[in-house]
Amino acid sequence: MRRMGETVIPLADLRYTATVPAIPDTLTPPDGLLSDRLGRPLHDLRISVTDRCNFRCSYCMPKEVFDRDYVFLPHASLLSFEEITRLARIFVGHGVRKLRLTGGEPLLRKGLETLVAMLAELRTPEGQPLDLTLTTNGSVLARKAAALAAAGLKRVTVSLDALDDAVFRRMNDVDFPVADVLQGIAAAQAAGLGPIKVNMVVKRGTNDHEIVPMARHFRHSGQVLRFIEYMDVGASNGWRMDEVLPSAQVLQRLQAEWPLEPVAPGVNGETAERWRYADGAGEIGLISSVTQAFCRDCNRARLSTEGKLFMCLFASRGHDLRALLRSDRSDAEISAALGGLWAARDDRYSELRGAAPSADKADARRVEMHYIGG
Ligand code: SAM
Ligand code: SF4
Ligand code: SF4
Repeated sequence: MRRMGETVIPLADLRYTATVPAIPDTLTPPDGLLSDRLGRPLHDLRISVTDRCNFRCSYCMPKEVFDRDYVFLPHASLLSFEEITRLARIFVGHGVRKLRLTGGEPLLRKGLETLVAMLAELRTPEGQPLDLTLTTNGSVLARKAAALAAAGLKRVTVSLDALDDAVFRRMNDVDFPVADVLQGIAAAQAAGLGPIKVNMVVKRGTNDHEIVPMARHFRHSGQVLRFIEYMDVGASNGWRMDEVLPSAQVLQRLQAEWPLEPVAPGVNGETAERWRYADGAGEIGLISSVTQAFCRDCNRARLSTEGKLFMCLFASRGHDLRALLRSDRSDAEISAALGGLWAARDDRYSELRGAAPSADKADARRVEMHYIGG
């Protein structure tokens, strides 16, 4: 048992149930572009490579739950690099064009450059390389950026919640200094992993006073700062609506300093609403998962560290692809199973929550962010 405030979380609940996907009787066509029940294609695959992290951001891995006694996944249960690459290849056959490595903290996975190199070899049916990216807390990026770029990584997104050192140390809750993350961003830029996106989760009353200083710092840098609404993901962060600062208010605060104008959305399924400074100082993004759901365009699947596939960030149940990988199923069989899963997908949690914000969600044991990767 873990105690967090008054909530008692049974340890068993911190793992997620998954069903082994059925293999359809007919395997043809095993490949091909997919469309789910709401007409959404499969385009992005987020791959969590570890459930461990050296930070304890309160909105993701609060110390009270993820303490010294917390049992992380044993090494044998993680997908190997070969297994990840095999699955990624099958996903590419179904239309995936973007891979994002995440975690936990992905740079803590030993030998990650080797996985990057293996994924960088994959090609679309048209012979093009994939868009291969990574989200990191930046803590060890300064040391690793050059090797990651050499292995074939295209870009990185770095999470950074404040420029003020005291605020940042409090938010990561392990006393990690902001200067090291800024060094990581600089190293990534120098290694050619730009344009870098910087993700700031905004918590009202915690770091919302850092919105303008962060914007000022990243203006003219070529790096795109994105403000993310604090989400009710998982079940251990004690989320409260009054700690969410709606993106509309973020925008107001920025507009009071610098005029901004909207930028037409780029690729389909883009989660960030883009704005540019009228004076040419660059762009920002607003990710409004709470106040403006974007389920309609959600074309992402998420693969957990131990090979469970989740169709939605708020899902409580995964699909055990590792069981297929480790039971001698052929690529064609796994591909057909995946096709069946995506075809049945109708998740749109944020949209439904937006329509009925007070609906009780206590029934669902939802997956934690550090496990599935955001
Ligand atoms: N450790 C890496 C990092 O922090 O960038 C990658 C994994 S982290 C789970 C991925 C992203 O999810 C980060 O940008 C983080 O800020 C974001 N995130 C985690 N919990 C969140 C929450 N409750 N609401 C909004 N974003 C969250
Ligand atoms: Fe770690 Fe990233 Fe979660 Fe923070 S947001 S605890 S850095 S996984
Ligand atoms: Fe996609 Fe689920 Fe988020 Fe909606 S709530 S955007 S379906 S991950």
